[in-house]
Amino acid sequence: MEYRVRVERNKLKFAAAHFATFEGQCEPLHGHNYAVTIEVAGTLTDDSWVVDFSTLKSLGRAICDELDHKFLLQRDSRVLQLDEGMSNWKVRFLERGWVFPKGDVLPLPIDNTTAERLAEYFVARLYDALHSRGATNLTTITVGVEEAPGQTGWCTTAL
Ligand SMILES: [Zn+2]
Repeated sequence: MEYRVRVERNKLKFAAAHFATFEGQCEPLHGHNYAVTIEVAGTLTDDSWVVDFSTLKSLGRAICDELDHKFLLQRDSRVLQLDEGMSNWKVRFLERGWVFPKGDVLPLPIDNTTAERLAEYFVARLYDALHSRGATNLTTITVGVEEAPGQTGWCTTAL
């Protein structure tokens, strides 16, 4: 049998700025109040747990805190020109350019700051955290990143 636990919203939220690129265009700089859902599936431990809710919430909350009040930068973008200086990031897209103080930027190892890629980033971080805790009963981790009510990107990985 497979069981699932889910934690969502409440403290699993962050507010951040970004612009995504698509089809040769770049969105204007804007922000979202993001809400995160984390679902983990697996078999039950001897104590009949999939994973402790509070463990899952604190792992998710720590990632949300890192993203909160930052400009989310797609460090692996194939279309933005990025220049990491001593005190700021310079970002160019065609004739447009931005300069961000480094402390306001969170460079992420993703090619675009879509909700799907942000969900993938959460999944990768949670995978590492749960794996290093020695969880052997888990089968999948799924994360949903909602960037607006009713608008969520999802990513699932098998452990
Ligand atoms: Zn957006």
